[in-house]
Amino acid sequence: MILPGATIGVLGGGQLGRMFTLAAMVMGYKVVVLDPDPDSPAGALADIHLKADYRDAVALIRMGGLCQAVTTEFENVPARSLEILALHSLVAPSAAALAVAQDRLEEKTHARDSGCETAPFANIETVIDLAPAWEAIGAPALLKTRRLGYDGKGQVRIDSFADLNAAFLELKEVPCLLEGFLALEREVSVVLARNAQDQIAFFPVAENQHRNGILDISIVPARIPTELAERARDMAAHLARELAYVGVMAVEFFVLKDGRIVFNEMAPRPHNSGHYTLDATVCDQFQQQVRALCGLPLGDARLLSPVVMVNLLGDVWQDRGATPPDWSRLLRHPGVQLHLYGKSQARPGRKMGHYNCLAASAEEALEVAMETRAALGIG
Ligand code: AMP
Repeated sequence: MILPGATIGVLGGGQLGRMFTLAAMVMGYKVVVLDPDPDSPAGALADIHLKADYRDAVALIRMGGLCQAVTTEFENVPARSLEILALHSLVAPSAAALAVAQDRLEEKTHARDSGCETAPFANIETVIDLAPAWEAIGAPALLKTRRLGYDGKGQVRIDSFADLNAAFLELKEVPCLLEGFLALEREVSVVLARNAQDQIAFFPVAENQHRNGILDISIVPARIPTELAERARDMAAHLARELAYVGVMAVEFFVLKDGRIVFNEMAPRPHNSGHYTLDATVCDQFQQQVRALCGLPLGDARLLSPVVMVNLLGDVWQDRGATPPDWSRLLRHPGVQLHLYGKSQARPGRKMGHYNCLAASAEEALEVAMETRAALGIG
């Protein structure tokens, strides 16, 4: 066990790194952040901010020397960087687990091999693969880049073979998946933590609604039958165990109109759809990340109150990102908890913060969320 007082680190200094840093500091750890951005939200709070590239061997060796354990806030960390770090300190999640989450083909194959249902998919590496993929999947479909896709980026709707050819060219012929387009009823996610002792703690299932491919709100508890929620948890736990995963992990599922539950993707880190835990569960996802990394017993993930999380994107800042919304419209609701990430520059689509609406029921929390969204001019 790595106990409070020790120094731990995070690769990446965005909002996820910042909330990890805060949780670690509250528990009495010292924190090192590696992020090239001098204005990084986590770097501003950390004990030490190493301003260097994620591939900078000197900075990685320094970080490994300072920290007893290191985690990451994003999945696209170069494997070599983790190898360098692992020579000097404990690293979790492992490079192997990150590699699966970095590539949609790997992650969907892993999910399918672990017994989860997925959308039908076909691998496309070159133009030669287009016709067989089209034959196998057909319309309607989505063409997704295998790597570096997030918040709906790198995704094109496909209704004909001509669409598929054009979209593959547009995506610069990088490796892609062609995926059958499913009739979704809802989207839900499970955030869980697993430590090296194989203890697993699940947060309650969140129901997620997106706008323009970016998470807009999460409703907790999700409005799905208990039996479906339990299946989602079991599948997520199975995936984590199969990967010998240590840390916090999020798994997104589709609930289909015919009642089936289908794996979509996983994130090897805390997740935007778990931000409600900051105010609504006994232990939040970032404290859980610290506990899992340090080999501590996991905290209680029990829900204390129904909650709706609302994302705050840069779009609601006025004067080209210079003027924030009128927070008094939000803060007059005593059950609303505001979280801002300390980003100086607001841009459309940029995640600037979020707020959690806590109320006696999920319906009431949703009403407050809708009223405050309108008052802030969201949507
Ligand atoms: P992803 O980046 O894979 O999470 O996809 C972004 C969003 O696109 C999801 O949250 C869904 O709303 C939608 N989506 C992705 N894959 C499918 C699919 N196979 N069928 C229907 N909708 C999808």
